[in-house]
Amino acid sequence: MGKHDHRRAENPFQRLWHRLGLGSDDGPAQDVAALAEKLSARRALLARLAALLIDHDLPITPFTLVMAHDCLTGANPRLAELLVQRIAAGLPVDLAWLEQALRHPAQDMATEQLITLLCHVRESLTAFDRSTHGAMQASGDFADTLQVHLADMAKAGTDKALVRNLAEAAKAMLGQASQLHAELAASRARTAELQSTLEHVQRVADEDHLTGLANRRAFERQFALALDTARSRAAPLCVAVVDIDHFKRINDRHGHTAGDRVLKVVAETIGTLRDAGCFVGRIGGEEFGVLFPGRSPGQALALLNSARTRMAERRLINRTTDLPFGPVTFSGGIADAVACGDLESALTAADSALYAAKGAGRNRVMLTDRAWPVAK
Ligand code: GH3
Ligand code: MG
Ligand code: MG
Repeated sequence: MGKHDHRRAENPFQRLWHRLGLGSDDGPAQDVAALAEKLSARRALLARLAALLIDHDLPITPFTLVMAHDCLTGANPRLAELLVQRIAAGLPVDLAWLEQALRHPAQDMATEQLITLLCHVRESLTAFDRSTHGAMQASGDFADTLQVHLADMAKAGTDKALVRNLAEAAKAMLGQASQLHAELAASRARTAELQSTLEHVQRVADEDHLTGLANRRAFERQFALALDTARSRAAPLCVAVVDIDHFKRINDRHGHTAGDRVLKVVAETIGTLRDAGCFVGRIGGEEFGVLFPGRSPGQALALLNSARTRMAERRLINRTTDLPFGPVTFSGGIADAVACGDLESALTAADSALYAAKGAGRNRVMLTDRAWPVAK
């Protein structure tokens, strides 16, 4: 049988096989069986992937698709295990949790170590710059002194051989001193350049990529610094946890990308509190943390309420569809960080006030009404 006759004799799987360019014209019968198996396995994987996203009301984005694929294929066993535990505990599997779960503790530790290393390098560079500066001054002074002596020698007369020789030696030293001076200056310029690169790297490591606010790690570090300062000055320190109201609806109605744009606007609005000396970070998917150094709970409440009112008064429009987003609001809970004593207790306390605010109808800020820290 000729080649073309053979093609005509193909069954549907063989035709598909050839159209997909997956095999030679003379592929053996077991290839067809293997293809059938492969296709049904793929269909089953896609069905499980879809079920995972739909059951947990997750948006279909590259991020969630990759995550679901990694869980179901075993590419990320750690995430799969966390997912199983989460589902077994009856807790929601949302984007915020996913982002949190994907942050590998070892990665966090490595980043933390890298940041510590960066700080050390910066300190060493500062010390190096200081000593280079000192050396430059010394070489400059030396050159000036030599210059004066040279002038004196010239005045004393150059007819005497000893003076002439001394003058020659001094000139050579002067040349070397000025070369050293130039090298030190170049080295200082390179140090300054390196220092500014390191500062940039550290800023990027501390920044949330979507909103430009501090990320959770930077927020946690800042909390520790602010608490130390508050304690040493016997000054107040409050912390707020802020969460956008019904954000899922915004994503559902307008899509995840438009949701991201809304998230940025909320971040900008809360970010204005930095003008009042607050520290603002994105600590979860659509959650923000605010530190209020030197502010009493009442003052922190007034500040956060001012941002909340400004946000609630805005009328945002979806620029790709021209549809209004409707009022975008957020709720917040505030706790006294000094009374709570540590980050975990303070965030738990602020969280409980936040959930009271949600329960009371949202678009409001509440203070903790319980005595903290919590009994552990
Ligand atoms: P509530 O008022 O009770 O907070 O309602 P909610 O819908 O905001 O609450 P929930 O925490 O259940 O949902 C938060 C949603 O935020 C789920 C997730 O789809 C969405 N989300 C989290 N991170 C992001 C993000 O980075 N971008 C977008 N577009 N959505 C996100
Ligand atoms: Mg939330
Ligand atoms: Mg929310």
